[in-house]
Amino acid sequence: MKKIIITLDGFSSCGKSTLAKQLARKLNYVFIDSGAMYRAITLYFMRNHINWNNNDEVQVALKDINLDFDYNDLTGSSDMLLNDENVELLIRDMLVSEHVSEVAANQYVREFGVAQQQKLGTRKGIVMDGRDIGTTVFPNAELKIFVTADPAVRVERRFKEMFEKNPQITIEEVKDNLEMRDYLDSNREFSPLKKAEDAIVLDNSNLTREEQLNIALEWANQKMVG
Ligand code: C5P
Repeated sequence: MKKIIITLDGFSSCGKSTLAKQLARKLNYVFIDSGAMYRAITLYFMRNHINWNNNDEVQVALKDINLDFDYNDLTGSSDMLLNDENVELLIRDMLVSEHVSEVAANQYVREFGVAQQQKLGTRKGIVMDGRDIGTTVFPNAELKIFVTADPAVRVERRFKEMFEKNPQITIEEVKDNLEMRDYLDSNREFSPLKKAEDAIVLDNSNLTREEQLNIALEWANQKMVG
C-alpha cells in the first residue's frame, strides 16, 4: 500500500478534525490540525498586541513564532506548541475564535502557515484538515475530502463542545462566531475556503462518526492501492 496525503477541508465545525483524527489512527498516519496553527499565531498576536492589519508588524512578529506539535498520549492527538509552550487549551478559547479568521486572512500569515504545512507533508502518510489544504497546501494530494454538514447541526455540535468547557456560553454566541468565520474564510483574498475541483463531498449531517469514518476509509483504501 502506498502512503498518501489526505486533505479535509470545509466550513467551521463540520467534524473535520474528528474524522481526520479517526482516519489517522486507523491508517497509522500523522494527523495535522492546520487550524491550530492559525489559532496559535492569533494567540501570539493578541498577547503581544500585534496589529494584524499592519503587514510590517505582522512580518516582524512572524519571525519570533515557532510552531510545533507534541503528541499527547491521553488525547491520542497532538497538542499545539507555541514557542515551546503548550497552548492547546488556550487556542480553543472563544477570544481566539473571535479573531482567528481575521488573522488567517493576512497574506503573510498565510504564506507562513502554508510553508510550514507543506514541510510537514513531505513524507506523506498524513491527514491534514483545514480550509485550503486541498486547494493551496497540497493541490496534488491523492485524496481530497470536502466535509459539509447542515448549519443547524454544526451550531448544535459546536455548542455542545464549547458548553462542556464554558457553561456561560450561549448558542447565539456560537452561531454568530461560526457564521462570521465561515463568511471571512470564504471571502478572503488569499486562499479562500472553497472546494477543490477534484475533492469528494462528504455531507455528514445524518451520519454517525463510525459511518463517516467507514466511507472515508473506503475512499482512502482505493487511493492507497491505486
Ligand atoms: O479549524 P479551526 O476551526 O480550528 O480553524 C480556525 C480558523 O483558522 C478558521 O476559522 C480559519 O479562519 C483559519 N484556518 C485557515 N486555513 C486553514 C485552517 C484554518 O484559514 N487551513
